[in-house]
Amino acid sequence: MDTRLSLSQYKLATFLACQRRFQLRYLRRLPWPATPLPERTEQLLQHGQEFHQLVEQHFLGLPVTPSTIPNEQVRQWWQAFVTHSPVPELPTNTRFLPETGLTVPLGNHLLYGRFDLLVLGKDEQERPFAHVFDWKTGRPADAATLKSRWQTRLYLALLAEGGSAFWSQNGQLSPEQISLTYWYVQEPAAPVTIGYSAGEHQANWADLQQIAARLDEASAANTWPLTDDWSECRECAYQIYCGRQGAGTAVPEIDEAEEPARPDERLLLPERP
Ligand code: SF4
Repeated sequence: MDTRLSLSQYKLATFLACQRRFQLRYLRRLPWPATPLPERTEQLLQHGQEFHQLVEQHFLGLPVTPSTIPNEQVRQWWQAFVTHSPVPELPTNTRFLPETGLTVPLGNHLLYGRFDLLVLGKDEQERPFAHVFDWKTGRPADAATLKSRWQTRLYLALLAEGGSAFWSQNGQLSPEQISLTYWYVQEPAAPVTIGYSAGEHQANWADLQQIAARLDEASAANTWPLTDDWSECRECAYQIYCGRQGAGTAVPEIDEAEEPARPDERLLLPERP
């Protein structure tokens, strides 16, 4: 493939769910979603984004005044965050980096992720550690489900491969010093923290390399098969391109942190099926 792709968690998950969807969405860049989301979903998405902005503001050191938060639901989420913040008290030389991105090479491509909050510091033995926090306003998931998700695997792999760059010297970051905490507004007192290890990273990185190789193969052959799993088609905006209208429809679960459309993506007109 002569195009170097920036692979996010969404692109990885899309490629594994359906290679044709990956091609239509990220290579041919057909608009997504094709149909407007229901009003309630749009609203939740917007409130989720507002909440993320408040937390970012907080970690940038800017004050947040609850009485100025216009939406009551967002106000309640903010209060839950203030009461149950999962971020512990840490030494003053700890760095708090909200909305921080990290990119590392993966085969012919780049692996990319953006953390809601990245906390960097050194432990009692002066070893560097990195702790990612991810805020969620959607339905809570258990630890096993979260651990298997691409978001988790990608974030941990990114830090294990590229996290040392955050320290100018003596900054070798080992996988055992990397962790990720999910915090749900609906279960504010029960954050889920996931650790990492060298063995897990070896297996995780091998899987990522294999996906990159499969992507190169598909691209070289220009073959993007339709998924055999028709349940994937239910939430897919491209049914008409694949003759899968018989799959039925379902509203996709939207993540408030989902990457925005590229600026020029909105201007593209749908191609004829
Ligand atoms: S409709 Fe189904 S086969 Fe077609 S792109 Fe979507 S998920 Fe893939």
